[in-house]
Amino acid sequence: MADATLTIDLAAIVANWRALDAKTASTVETGAVVKADAYGLGTVPVGKALAGAGVKTFFVALASEGAALRKAIGPDIPIYVFSGYMEGDREAVQTAGLTPLLNSPEQVTRFVTDLAGHPCGLQLDSGMNRLGLEPVDIPGLLFQLPQLNPNLVISHLACADTPQHLQNATQLAAFVTMCTPLTARKSLAATGGIMLGESYHFDLTRPGIGLYGGLPFEGARPVVTLDVPVIQTRNILPSETVGYGADWTAAKLSKIATISAGYADGLMRNLNGAQVFSGPTACRVVGRISMDLITVDVTHLDENPEMLTILGPHQTIDHLAENAGTIGYEVLTSLGPRYNRRYMS
Ligand SMILES: *Cc1c(COP(=O)(O)O)cnc(C)c1O
Repeated sequence: MADATLTIDLAAIVANWRALDAKTASTVETGAVVKADAYGLGTVPVGKALAGAGVKTFFVALASEGAALRKAIGPDIPIYVFSGYMEGDREAVQTAGLTPLLNSPEQVTRFVTDLAGHPCGLQLDSGMNRLGLEPVDIPGLLFQLPQLNPNLVISHLACADTPQHLQNATQLAAFVTMCTPLTARKSLAATGGIMLGESYHFDLTRPGIGLYGGLPFEGARPVVTLDVPVIQTRNILPSETVGYGADWTAAKLSKIATISAGYADGLMRNLNGAQVFSGPTACRVVGRISMDLITVDVTHLDENPEMLTILGPHQTIDHLAENAGTIGYEVLTSLGPRYNRRYMS
């Protein structure tokens, strides 16, 4: 079979959640962010594994994601929706019992009109200027508070992956000030915020990428392994070229393995210069990455490999991201639908 295999280690996700939980005081709850299909790794299996491990609060980006998660984790665990309460969300929010994090005065009014009495939370903008109620919105909000009765207030840090960035402290102070009239539980930290220390933890943290083995959680256990079968191995002569654009020229007699994955599988075209692994041995990607194929220099291997590993113990999502000029988040969420997905628990 020519399909590459993406192995997802659910036990590693659970171990990462526990390790992140251990970084905060025992009074601080650690939630789990499973938006974008659990960062591309599968809402249902990831949600079930985390709920089974004791996660008591989930976060998704969209109501539709919340509805899918609800089916996996049963009726009782709260699911918060970052996009809040959008036009057309009523049915999903009601049926799946989701908790919108209201982002604007318009959303607050829409929610009070449609669903007064349904659980909700608030998202405040403490300085990222992306999503959330602004300081000027708070006085107006106070009149609606008795009807809203939010059970959680969150905000999001723009620079948490850079601990020395001054904006972290500015946003922390802004969040504290904006929260003064609000008695609900509070949450500011995603993975990066957990690393910033206790003053950023409040009542509940919201790690995403750290669960899935990515930076800025340095000690994360890798979660994904990507093994790609070799379709063909060929010898090429010095001065022969490989791939589109005849971009790479062999300097000596070389052996080239062609593997069955490409940019349609989330292995970005600008990964050129990246490595893949035969066991512990690194092999260089040569020539341009095609839609379905990647060519690899395996001249130095004793035997023709049947399989090469792109993501695994020797190359994490962050290594690959660095090669492609991006971040681990994008590598994970780009991994395409063609892989044969295998879950380990
Ligand atoms: C995505 C997201 C998170 C999780 O962030 P990570 O950096 O993946 O831990 C938390 N909160 C909000 C509002 C988000 O959008």
